[in-house]
Amino acid sequence: MTDPDAAADEPSPHSDPAPPGEPSPSDRSSVDGDADAPELPADLDAVREELIDWYEADHREFPWRRTADPYEILVSEVMSQQTQLDRVVPAWEDFLDEWPTAASLAAADRAEVVAFWSDHSLGYNNRAKYLHEAAGQVQTVYGGEFPESPDELQELMGVGPYTANAVASFAFNAGDAVVDTNVKRVLHRAFGVPDDDDAFARVAARVMPEGTSRVWNNAIMELGGVACGTTPRCDEAGCPWREWCSAYRTGDFTAPDVPTQPSFEGSRRQFRGRVVRTLGEFEELPLDELGPRVRVDYAPDGEYGREWLRGLVEDLAADGLVSVVEEGGDRTHADDDVLVSLRR
Ligand code: SF4
Repeated sequence: MTDPDAAADEPSPHSDPAPPGEPSPSDRSSVDGDADAPELPADLDAVREELIDWYEADHREFPWRRTADPYEILVSEVMSQQTQLDRVVPAWEDFLDEWPTAASLAAADRAEVVAFWSDHSLGYNNRAKYLHEAAGQVQTVYGGEFPESPDELQELMGVGPYTANAVASFAFNAGDAVVDTNVKRVLHRAFGVPDDDDAFARVAARVMPEGTSRVWNNAIMELGGVACGTTPRCDEAGCPWREWCSAYRTGDFTAPDVPTQPSFEGSRRQFRGRVVRTLGEFEELPLDELGPRVRVDYAPDGEYGREWLRGLVEDLAADGLVSVVEEGGDRTHADDDVLVSLRR
């Protein structure tokens, strides 16, 4: 998980049959009436449900996703700040074997906690010191019970706004919408949110259904981690937002942390994949019915129109993957009469 607190915390302890729908302007609504804000799909409830359903149907299993214990979640968040998640899992399990509760960690010798951190190559030993200190605060200041709100959680040593919100969300379902690098990338691509922290925060808050921070923040971060990475995997990962996504519609997959077009999704390879998948579903289609299923911005005479699509299917035909025939059976260059089918 990418953690915006990582740098901030370190110096300071507190630190389809219908075309995949481009909605008409009247189908979209601006954020909080702000005329300059990006427009969101009007059917936001569907946008939300689709993401949560996608996440709940299948997601990466991390052991801290199976607990609502704030101490266990805090340990996972602090460890994740500088370390890849698959390396965090064994360290997290070992740490909790050694110090299963905040009380046990508070009672531990700090040097032992730091040594554990070093032995597991978790980076920045100060994090071990702060974690130990935070466990002590929970005992002495909060009577052994973790505070639940992001503001109070930030009072704990080494806990910045991102980590506080993560613990509030995943332990207490009481957090705000997470905005990290992954979430920014998703919101920028899907809804055209400009690269501006306030805009990201406003849209992230607007899209998250109220009172769902636990599942929602997990789901949108999973989307950014599994489907909408720097090289997105829209179709392969079955992204639930394809029908609303601006980047999927236009083919522009740049993002604040992806300044140039990613090599795969922006390439013809992605669209070739869509042609093959669509024909697998529909058997045979005229160009003008295939086109909108491949790109939502398909227009017969436009930049991404018949000529562009004809080139794509001709390539696939040359590779033996599809057949391109005239409706009457003879090959023609009148593209609007052309039928494309999968070669089986
Ligand atoms: S359709 Fe692709 S670009 Fe759009 S949100 Fe999904 S994974 Fe990201």
